This record gives sequence, structure tokens and C-alpha cells, in this order.
Amino acid sequence: MDPFEAGKLLLTAAAFDNRRPSKAANHAWAAALHDVPADPDAFAAVARYYTEPTQDGRLDGNRWIQPHHVRQIRRQIRDERIPDGAFTYPLPVGRETGAEFVQRRRQQIAAIADGRIEVEPILQLKGGPHPTVADALAGVGRIPGHVREALAEALPGRRARVEARARGGDDALAVPCTWCHAEAQKPCKRRRAARGDAPGTWFRRAAPHPGRVDAAAIAARPCSICGASVGLPCVWPDGRLYDGVHPVRRGAALPAA
Ligand SMILES: [Zn+2]
Ligand SMILES: [Zn+2]
Repeated sequence: MDPFEAGKLLLTAAAFDNRRPSKAANHAWAAALHDVPADPDAFAAVARYYTEPTQDGRLDGNRWIQPHHVRQIRRQIRDERIPDGAFTYPLPVGRETGAEFVQRRRQQIAAIADGRIEVEPILQLKGGPHPTVADALAGVGRIPGHVREALAEALPGRRARVEARARGGDDALAVPCTWCHAEAQKPCKRRRAARGDAPGTWFRRAAPHPGRVDAAAIAARPCSICGASVGLPCVWPDGRLYDGVHPVRRGAALPAA
């Protein structure tokens, strides 16, 4: 503010404290408040200074406003317009850089502090969720029966695999299952028959199908009984395919052939 504006501000103060107007005071205040505009907030700061009670709760007749009071109370008035919580910001027209966003946000906050624009708080949802969401939430924390069953099967299936490895047996899950067509690494599955209109459901089996255990043995080692090499099935002496594998071929824990 300039000395003329400072003079008007001091006239406002004089209405409260009966000070004598003076050109020296106008210049002194203009110098002290050179970076503070003589806007309505500056005048409001003077009024607030003289209307707020002191810390001991009493209005006193000895107050004498100083330029630093105007500066501080004006900032306080402006800060009060800026909400504590989150508030929305206008969306940019087109793309903007991070620096442009910061610039625009600063302008918005300045405009809010000026009282030029209203704050739009970010609204909270009211009235509860949609019935379908409420229904879904009601089931949270409860495991449906078919999921529980599938989980119960998957877990022992994994345990069986670990146990097989621990005792030196073949990892049946290393190979696909020709019986249930489970892929390698996936547990064997079984299908519960369809009931009425409900389609059947696939469940993971706790144990691999026997044929898969044999397939893992075939993939793992040759057979010491029939002489089948790695990857080839066991055979009878006459060349017919053996049903499964010769028992000694299963599991490295058995005596080496
Ligand atoms: Zn299988
Ligand atoms: Zn064999």
C-alpha cells in the first residue's frame, strides 16, 4: 500500500483509538506495509484487532494497532478461508505439466484466500452403498462352501508334493496329467457331477492321479526291470505296454537299479 492508502487505513484505526492523523504516520505505515495491499482484508484486520477480546477476556481501551498487527491478522483472515481438509481443484483444459498444476493450484488457493471463489470440499459419500455392493460386503469374511472345499484340496495337494520331494519320490506335478489333463505344475482335478441345472464344478485333487505318478517316474529314470529308457513306458517282455510302471521304477528312495 502507498502512503495515501495507509492514511485511509489509519483513519479506520483512528475511529477505534482516536489517534491523530499525520503524514509521517502515513509514510511510516506505507513503508512497513509496502508489500501488503490495502484490500478489504487489511481493513478487516484493523476491525478485528479492536473487536477481539484480549487473552484475559476483557476489552481494554489501551490498544494501539501497529503495522505488524495488520500484517498478521490479515494473513489470519485469509488463512481462515482455506479449508483444512481436501478441496477440489478445477480440471485443466487439455494437458498440463506438473509445474503448471502447481501454478494453477497456487492461483486457486490465492483466490480462495481473497474470498474471490468458494471452496468446493471433496464430498463424502452419503446414504450407504448400492444394495448390490451391500450384499457383496455382507459376504466378506465368509468363505463360500465350494471355495473352502477347493482350498482344502489344494493345500494337501501342495503338501503331498512337498512330502514326495522330501522322501525322494517323484514330483508328479512336474509332468502333465494324461488322465485329467492338468497342466504341469497344476494339481490334478476332479469334477463334481452336475446337479439339476447346476453345472459340475472342478475341484483340485489332494493327490495326483496314479497315471501321473507313473508318468513322472517314466520321465525321471529308466526301468531296471524291463530296460525302458528315460521317457519311454515300461513294457512286457513280449513288447506289450505295461499298465503303469514296474514298481521299482517309482521313487528314487528305492534301491538304485
Ligand atoms: Zn490328473
Ligand atoms: Zn519297467
